[in-house]
This record gives sequence, structure tokens and C-alpha cells, in this order.
Amino acid sequence: MILIDGKKEAANLREELKKEVSQLKTKYNKVPGLTVILIGDFTPSQIYVRNKEKSAKEVGLKSEVIKYPDRVEETTILNKIHELNKDETVSGILVQLPLPRHINKKKVIEAIIPEKDVDGFHPMNVGNLSSGYESSVPCTPLGCYLLIKKVEPNLSGKKAVVIGRSNLNGKPMTQLLLKENCTVTITHSKTKDLKGECLKGDIVVAAVGIPELVKGDWIKKDSIVIDVGINKTEKGIVGDVAFDEVSKIAKAITPVPGGVGPMTIACLLKNTIECFKRSQS
Ligand code: NAP
Repeated sequence: MILIDGKKEAANLREELKKEVSQLKTKYNKVPGLTVILIGDFTPSQIYVRNKEKSAKEVGLKSEVIKYPDRVEETTILNKIHELNKDETVSGILVQLPLPRHINKKKVIEAIIPEKDVDGFHPMNVGNLSSGYESSVPCTPLGCYLLIKKVEPNLSGKKAVVIGRSNLNGKPMTQLLLKENCTVTITHSKTKDLKGECLKGDIVVAAVGIPELVKGDWIKKDSIVIDVGINKTEKGIVGDVAFDEVSKIAKAITPVPGGVGPMTIACLLKNTIECFKRSQS
């Protein structure tokens, strides 16, 4: 069984990106810039943003975090985004989710120009991804995709099962696997026989948010299992996959923690660099 080491893969990716940033600096005499907007004092968001900032600086990006109090007006955020859209030193803009209730998520996502949308949430990027055009791809599914490709470089003709259909994870994951010529089944809370569907998968990606939903007898031998879930339980953080059972059957599996999570931030840096490169061409 291959234990897919997301920490190691993310560190390797950051190392590659660091080299690329250094080359870009030589070529253009400037570096890609990432600006993160953080609203309120929700602890997990503060931790994520701190980690993003630290990683961005590590690879040599220009990194900035703009903080607002929870009660900030929506127009203040939208005006700041418009300003950043025009700022040539900013390659990527990210507004940390979740937002306070009085701020309209859709308006915020659509305010960021697609060229600087490092999260890949803008409808234009969503459409481009599903049309097979160049686009920013949401960071977590992009990280999953890179991990899958490390185990199995040729995915053509593989049967992939994605559990969950969120805009953040399930849907973009499906598009990435389709692009690789997988035959993809996307499942969700109304799927009739989830176990039966999973049993057909050469690749199973679980992005649900239910602790250890996917059991050992849901997985066929030699499959690749990617666990996106992060669930707080009495026994600590667990994924959507019953790791102890599934790791005895699968060919390769990501642990939680230490699997998909570390790749997410590395992919954010990758997306920022891609946005910068596209802006220079
Ligand atoms: P979400 O928006 O809540 O979507 C969950 C999806 O799971 C929905 O499509 C839902 O179906 C489906 N679902 C719910 N119950 C199900 C069931 N019993 N059987 C099959 N499908 C079911 O969640 P998300 O934002 O995609 O996040 C999923 C998990 O990933 C969470 O644990 C989250 O914390 C984690 N996450 C991890 C990272 C990372 O970096 N590792 C990043 C983001 C999220 P319906 O559409 O029918 O409701």
C-alpha cells in the first residue's frame, strides 16, 4: 500500500515554485504578489491565512494580508477588491471564506477579476475549467489531482468516483478527472447506492464532511483513495474515509491529516504564479 505523503509532496511543490519565482524575478525584475482579505476573527480562518502568508513568503512571493473587523460594510470590501484588481503588483486576490452573514459571497467572488481569481471560484473560471480552457482551478481539488497523478500518471480510461458535488471540491474535481479522460461518476447525498458506486472506482475521491463514511468494503482492491474530509471528532481530526479499514484494501491512500490538506496551500501559491505568468504574456 502506498501512503500518499501530502506533506512531502507539498514541500516538493513549494521547492519547485521557489525556483520558478526566482527565475521569474530574473526575467521580469518583479515577483508574483498574493493579497488575502481576512474579515473578522474566526480562529480557523486566522490560522489558514497565517499559514498562507508564511508559505507565500517562503517561496518568495510578495504577500499581503488585509484585515477587516467583522462588522465591515460590504461596499468597503468590494471597493478594496476593485482597487486590487487594478494594482499591477497584485497577481492574485483571495477573500478568505466563510464571510460574515451581511456580506454577499457571490458578489465578492464576482468582484475579483477572473485573471486574479486564485481560488478559481469566479463563474468565468468555473466555465473555462468545464470547457477545457485555461483557468485557475480551486486549490483543494487541484492538490488532489496532483497527488493522484503522482501515483498514476496515466488516468485515461480509469473509472473515478467523486463523493460530494460542492463548487469548492466535488465539481472541479470531476472536471479535472474528465480532462484526464477518466469515466467519472459524481455522487451526493441523494445517490441511491453509494457503496455500489464506490466499489466501481479505480479512483475514489471523498469530499463530504462525514467522519469515516467510506468503509473498507466500499473500495475495490488496487484503487486510489483520496480523502478530502476534515472532521473534528472525539478521537481527533479524521477524514471521510475509514483509514484503518480502507488502507488494507486500497493501492494508495491519503492520510488525514497530512494528505490533501498540505497540498491546498501549495496549490494556492501555484495558482498565484500562474496568474502572474498569464499577466506577463
Ligand atoms: P459541502 O459543501 O458541505 O459538500 C458536501 C457534499 O457531500 C455535498 O455535495 C453533499 O451532497 C455530499 N454529501 C453529504 N452527505 C452525503 C452522503 N451521506 N453521501 C454522499 N454524499 C453526501 O462540503 P465541502 O466544502 O466540499 O467539504 C467537504 C469536506 O472537505 C469537509 O470535511 C471539509 O472540511 C473538507 N475540506 C477539506 C479541505 C482540505 O484542504 N483538505 C478543503 C476544503 C474542504 P448534496 O449536494 O446532495 O448536499
